[in-house]
Amino acid sequence: MGDRIAIGYDLGGTSCGIGLFDIDSGELLASTAHKIDSSLPGEEIFEGICSSTEELLEKQGFTKDQIGAVCFATAGTLGPKGAKDPAEIEQILISPNIPGMNRFPLKREYLRRFPGVLFLMENDANAAGWAEWFYGVGRDEKVRTLVGFTLGTGLGGYIIIDGNMVRPAELGHIIIDSSPSAPTCGCGSRGCAEAFVSIEGIKRIAKQVMLEHPESKLWGIPPDKLDPKPIAELAREGDKAALLVYAKVGYYLGKLIWNLKRVCEPDAVVFSGNISRSLDLMLPAMKAVLEEDGLIESQPMIKATELGPDKAGIMGAAGLAIKYYKAAHS
Ligand SMILES: [Zn+2]
Repeated sequence: MGDRIAIGYDLGGTSCGIGLFDIDSGELLASTAHKIDSSLPGEEIFEGICSSTEELLEKQGFTKDQIGAVCFATAGTLGPKGAKDPAEIEQILISPNIPGMNRFPLKREYLRRFPGVLFLMENDANAAGWAEWFYGVGRDEKVRTLVGFTLGTGLGGYIIIDGNMVRPAELGHIIIDSSPSAPTCGCGSRGCAEAFVSIEGIKRIAKQVMLEHPESKLWGIPPDKLDPKPIAELAREGDKAALLVYAKVGYYLGKLIWNLKRVCEPDAVVFSGNISRSLDLMLPAMKAVLEEDGLIESQPMIKATELGPDKAGIMGAAGLAIKYYKAAHS
């Protein structure tokens, strides 16, 4: 029997999402979340993931030799050093949340357990991009250049042009404020987009705005709880200062997209991550910046992702695995 299945893995610090996909149609057939104990050595974590994969296959009536391609999406530095293409990546060099997997020979061991499979690895931020490309707004054929951002602790981003990922793309570290008073970013540079558009960045902006607005209800939030979520709640109640915080974040995001328009003129810009739930609060200021642009007049479609966060990782990984499989078999 021929290959029927692609598997997308979303390997995180507490669980590994495993999704079986039809390799022809790309349809998700079944998925499971395998619990990870990140204190275990790599061999044991790997063994658990393989057993869960075999169980899921068996439950769905498939055999090991029907797997055509797999991709592991995960956070961290992937290697060998210098490898960029997902087909060249073989292991995690430094994992931020699963130390046991550091330098574990994942590709070699996986192919020993599941021989003959096309094996890929991809960084999790890029996998979110592939999910959007294959299962989200990228399905619209008018979208040929897609830019995406994950808004959270940091500001992750990707650029996909005609089905190709631009590598590397450190979109969060594009400098959008070159003034000497611009805040320093975690990367060491000053004025990066991430220094404004991130949990810490939003907190910093809120503290500045509050000084000008002694009447704001933001003063009622204890300093250690001054997070994007309660600020958004007050903005929705009409608190002027809270609205201004999100307008400022929208302005900085607008500046960032303004720069990216000069690089690649995106057809669509998609936001994911917790803070993207407040996109509506940021959108007017963002659009105002973009409309000032006299050089490139076309405006990208801007929206929050419609893909659920729990499935995006396996979808992106599987979408990429299917793309490589089809290229190898065409
Ligand atoms: Zn930076």
